Amino acid sequence: MKIHEYQARTLLQEAGAPVPPGAMTETVDETVREAARLLDSGADLVVIKAQVHAGGRGKAGFVKLIRTKEEALQAAEFMLSNRMVSPQTPPEGLEVSRLLVAAGVDIEAEYYLAVTLDRSRGTYTLIASAEGGVEIEKVAEESPELILKEPLDPLLGLQVWQARKMAFNLGLKGKQIGQAVKAMMAVDAIRQSKDAGLVEINPLVITPASAAHPDGQVLAIDAKLNFDDNALFRNKDIHALADPAEEDPSELHAQKFGLSYVALDGNIGCLVNGAGLAMSTMDIIKLHGGDPANFLDVGGSADREAVTEAFRIILSDKKVKGVLVNIFGGIMQCDTIAEAIVESAQAVGFDVPLVVRLEGTNVENARRILEEKKSELPTMHSADDLTEAAKTVCNLVSG
Ligand code: GDP
Ligand code: MG
Repeated sequence: MKIHEYQARTLLQEAGAPVPPGAMTETVDETVREAARLLDSGADLVVIKAQVHAGGRGKAGFVKLIRTKEEALQAAEFMLSNRMVSPQTPPEGLEVSRLLVAAGVDIEAEYYLAVTLDRSRGTYTLIASAEGGVEIEKVAEESPELILKEPLDPLLGLQVWQARKMAFNLGLKGKQIGQAVKAMMAVDAIRQSKDAGLVEINPLVITPASAAHPDGQVLAIDAKLNFDDNALFRNKDIHALADPAEEDPSELHAQKFGLSYVALDGNIGCLVNGAGLAMSTMDIIKLHGGDPANFLDVGGSADREAVTEAFRIILSDKKVKGVLVNIFGGIMQCDTIAEAIVESAQAVGFDVPLVVRLEGTNVENARRILEEKKSELPTMHSADDLTEAAKTVCNLVSG
């Protein structure tokens, strides 16, 4: 589960990282009022930023620095009435309904800082770079040696000596070191206490030297956090930060019925029981030249209502040009699936080819049900094994 930057900033601040003050707004008026408040209280620079679960906002024009109320008005009107399109959004972009209005800062240098899971080592790892900012992906690709890594002990997490070592390797000096160490410790504290898979600050900036801060100030001005969904049960405060507007509506709908559904880009809808079978079904569709439109595991204990709902979700995806049902009935009974197919035909209707492969518990009864209702299922094809089923659906969809 992801959260918005304004929420991430609050968590970072609570964990001890230095973050400039800011507030979330939802209307143009509110945004202008908040910007005016910051300008009136002495800030000469204010930043207005779209709050969506995607990065690349700076380059897309959805991070604007403003110095007057008029500029705040323009920025707010633009962001709240245009969809944001970046390499990290779907092609049609994302609607922006929340903004962050924060005190802007002058920037001397931009750093990258994150703790994330290194799957190849099987440990969390501190990652940092002195080449942070909006070009970090390019840096990672073209000069990976500029990305510094420090593996973390699975039990102890980030140790202060490791953070100090990283700060020195980044080339930080004087008071910058203590401040950067504080930011790094905060990042790992959130990772550990809230079961985050990624805690990222990009950029972590150093402000120019001033009389009050001769070494400049280290500040976190953008943050991205991603939490382990399977640990949300013990992080209720985090779960409460979820923004349903940012989630795929079909996936949310599926969750309500206890189905695990992930939307994909292809055109063959799959209804399967068991995650392993779902994966191999997707593989075999690919093998025969098709493209799955989704991953859908109805699990072992779904009832007819939930399975009917699963069909409704698959069929509501306009990309779906064919459906493959692959059930290996163990705890799940094949006749439950058959009844759900019949019910879905009545309630939603299968306009696209439906290929059904059923095996296991109560399969005879299931076949009898489907045979009896054959006239209501004109697009249905039965298959005896998975290969035949995958070939059939791929042919029907491409033909
Ligand atoms: P992202 O593009 O979605 O990652 O959004 P960021 O919040 O990281 O902003 C993108 C870039 O805008 C940053 O790398 C900075 O260069 C710039 N930026 C953001 N906030 C400020 C600010 O307060 N002052 C200045 N000078 N630049 C900023
Ligand atoms: Mg950023």
